[in-house]
Amino acid sequence: MKSMLDELQAVLGSSGIIRDDAVRERPADWLGFAKSSALAWIRPANTQEVSAALRICHKYGRPVVPAGGLTGLVRGTDADPATVILSLERMSGIESIDPVGRTAVVLAGTPLETVQTEMAAKGLKFALDLGARGSCTIGGNIATNAGGTEVLRYGMMRDQVLGLEVVLANGEIISSMNQLLKNNTGYDLKQLFIGSEGTLGIVTRAVLRLHPAPESRNTALVAANSFDAVETLFSNLSQKLAGSLSGFEVMWDSYYRLAVADSGAPIAPGHAFYILVESEGSDHDRDAAVFMGALEAVSEVGLVTDAVVANSGSQRDAIWAIRENVAAVAGQLGPLYVFDVSLPIREMPDYLDVVEGGLREAFGGKARLVVFGHIGDGNLHLFVGAEADAHETVQSCVYRPLEKRHGSVSAEHGIGLEKRAWLPLSRNPVEIALMARLKRALDPTNILNPGKILESTDLAASASDSSDLLSEPSANA
Ligand SMILES: Cc1cc2nc3c(=O)[nH]c(=O)nc-3n(C[C@H](O)[C@H](O)[C@H](O)COP(=O)(O)OP(=O)(O)OC[C@H]3O[C@@H](n4cnc5c(N)ncnc54)[C@H](O)[C@@H]3O)c2cc1C
Repeated sequence: MKSMLDELQAVLGSSGIIRDDAVRERPADWLGFAKSSALAWIRPANTQEVSAALRICHKYGRPVVPAGGLTGLVRGTDADPATVILSLERMSGIESIDPVGRTAVVLAGTPLETVQTEMAAKGLKFALDLGARGSCTIGGNIATNAGGTEVLRYGMMRDQVLGLEVVLANGEIISSMNQLLKNNTGYDLKQLFIGSEGTLGIVTRAVLRLHPAPESRNTALVAANSFDAVETLFSNLSQKLAGSLSGFEVMWDSYYRLAVADSGAPIAPGHAFYILVESEGSDHDRDAAVFMGALEAVSEVGLVTDAVVANSGSQRDAIWAIRENVAAVAGQLGPLYVFDVSLPIREMPDYLDVVEGGLREAFGGKARLVVFGHIGDGNLHLFVGAEADAHETVQSCVYRPLEKRHGSVSAEHGIGLEKRAWLPLSRNPVEIALMARLKRALDPTNILNPGKILESTDLAASASDSSDLLSEPSANA
């Protein structure tokens, strides 16, 4: 009798499946230090093959974890030896571009950077950008509702998607490839899958929304000495650069110092805050004058203690390189714990004081806190360097103070396995129960990325008959 893996190989061909010892050569995450321990990797070449493969996995009750570039930072692609990883790596490419309607149809495995570059070559802009752009995929960006450095102006991934094609757990293909900006015909089904982290369906294609490429871009790095000044700077620049402010990235001195440790610093460390300010527009000379005027105005009222304006593309890249030098910063912190939270901007200084106090108490002054983020949209990234095996203590120091400030334990990266226990801090029991009901409706046998976002107890609690959800996968693979 054929095994499940033989059945998968029969529909996907030998290049469509990686099994046995070859699986251990596959990376478990984007850094690749750990290797995959999944049962097998399958690599469908098109939507029909995704559908056929899921039908087989569904028949056997075999867990399936969708994988893009593996750059998600919340263990959303973790897979145990009972699990099949479904990689979208062979489904990469741009099918079509409509420069007038400003849309593009893109396969889910396409790297984000490929989409950015191809659109720029046509005078168009795909308005999502983040540090992992070379490795992360459009499918992963959709599944995590990615954010990044341009949310302030363009919104999150949810705002860049007009239509989706998704394959459900039982292999059913849902084509909802809407091209229209306005379409109020019933439920907006794509929204269910955006941010669902591979737990409700596998994204195979998307209709993406595009914008005209900006003609001008002005970038500066400015320093400020108090959080009050940062707040006022944000309000003033938002007003003076009305509608064109596209980036407001704040680095606390704790981050900046480490980020420039091995390279020249355009502004010396020692100020309390460093802010990368960027605007985009359509008229080179006029926009540069408006940008300079806005910076002069905030300097004159004492909000800025130092400033450097990029006069060329390479100077702009050098400023952005500091903000994106995350790996170098992380490398200097020893055992590292990474966080991505959001909360009202005004609450940030008090929140960080409480986090710092908690860490001091827990680790006797030996923990280090490094902070940076997309402050314009209330998003902080926290790096904590502390002793090994202190995950729960560090998480508690970072997450608990969010509760009374109505913050979120995940601003951008999602929940995965990493933050699952903390979901109730940001979502109430009725919301979690509704999530579980949706999951049951779309994936009644719980084969799609099981255990991510929701606990099995959440699913069981939502079921009138939970037996189908709690059954173990078949051992016939
Ligand atoms: C250096 C660095 C910087 C980053 N900066 C940011 C940032 O600024 N903003 C931000 O939001 N994120 C950031 N991230 C996190 C990460 O890049 C994003 O979450 C990204 O969207 C993940 O895409 P991926 O293709 O790597 O997905 P993966 O890591 O492969 O998967 C992520 C999740 O999506 C699911 N999934 C993947 N593909 C599909 C699919 N086709 N259908 C259904 N489910 C799928 C997976 O099962 C998993 O749950 C950063 C990561 C790194 C390493």
